[in-house]
Amino acid sequence: MEKQQTLAKSEQISGIALHTGVRATLQLNPAPENTGIVFRRVDMPGKPLIPASAMNVIDVQRGTTIGCGQAAVYTIEHIMSALHACSVDNCIVDMDGAEPPICDGSSREFFAMVERAGVVQQDAEAKVWTPTKPLHYKNGSTQVAIFPDPEKLTISCVTSFKGCPVDPQYYEYELERESYKQEIAPGRTFVDYRDLRALMSYGLCKGGSLDAAAIIHNGAIICKDALRFENEIVRHKILDLTGDIYLCGVRIKGNVIAVKPGHPANVALTKLIIEDMLNNQ
Ligand SMILES: [Zn+2]
Repeated sequence: MEKQQTLAKSEQISGIALHTGVRATLQLNPAPENTGIVFRRVDMPGKPLIPASAMNVIDVQRGTTIGCGQAAVYTIEHIMSALHACSVDNCIVDMDGAEPPICDGSSREFFAMVERAGVVQQDAEAKVWTPTKPLHYKNGSTQVAIFPDPEKLTISCVTSFKGCPVDPQYYEYELERESYKQEIAPGRTFVDYRDLRALMSYGLCKGGSLDAAAIIHNGAIICKDALRFENEIVRHKILDLTGDIYLCGVRIKGNVIAVKPGHPANVALTKLIIEDMLNNQ
C-alpha cells in the first residue's frame, strides 16, 4: 500500500516571473496528511489559500492558472509536475505574487528543490485513482484520452509545431521519479515567435528571455546553448501534462494518449477524471 508523502523541510527559490517580469519568491513547505497541494498568497491580506484542483482553474491560455475569490496564481504546471513526479501528496506552496519564477522554462529547478527538501512518508494511505473506463476529450486536431491501468501512469504524446524542423515528435514515458529527472524535467518551454510577438504587444512576457524558453521562428529553433534533447518539445508537453493531470488531487494511474495537447485539453481531461472519481467512490 502506498503511503502519503510530504517534504522533510521548507525550500525557497527566487527568480524572474515570465509575464510580469518581476522578481518572485516561491517556497515549498511540508503539510499534514490529506492537505493536498495548496498554494498560498503570502503577499495578500489573510494569506488566502488556493487548492490545486482542476475545479479551481480559471484560465488555460498561456499556462494553467488557478484562483479562489480575489487570489490567483499563474503558471503552476511546472511546479505541479515536479511534485507529481516525486509523489508529494501534501505541500503548501507559498508565493509572494501571482506568478512563480519561470527559471529556465523547465521543471528542473523545482525538482531540485524537492530533492533538497527531501520527501518523507506519512502514516495515511495515499489516494490513488485509475479511471473506471476510458475517458476522452477532443477539440479540433487535439485529442487526449486516458485508459485504465491500476499499475502505473504512462503518457504517450505526439506533438507538432507548424514550421518546426524537427516536426512531428513522439515520446512515450512511464512516470517514475529518477527517469523524470533525466528524461522530462530538463525539457524547456517552446514559444512560437508569432505568439510571442502578440503576447509582448499585450504587455506580457516581460520576464521572457532565452534563459526562460526556446523560440521557434521561421522553421528554426532559437535557444540558449544546444537543444537538450532532439525531441525537447514533446518532452516538455509530457512535463506539462504530468503537472496538469495532478490537478485531479490524487495520484493517477492510467495510460494517457495525447495528440497535440495543451493546457485546455489537459485540464478538460483532468476534469473528466475528477467526475469519474466522484461518480464511482
Ligand atoms: Zn510548460
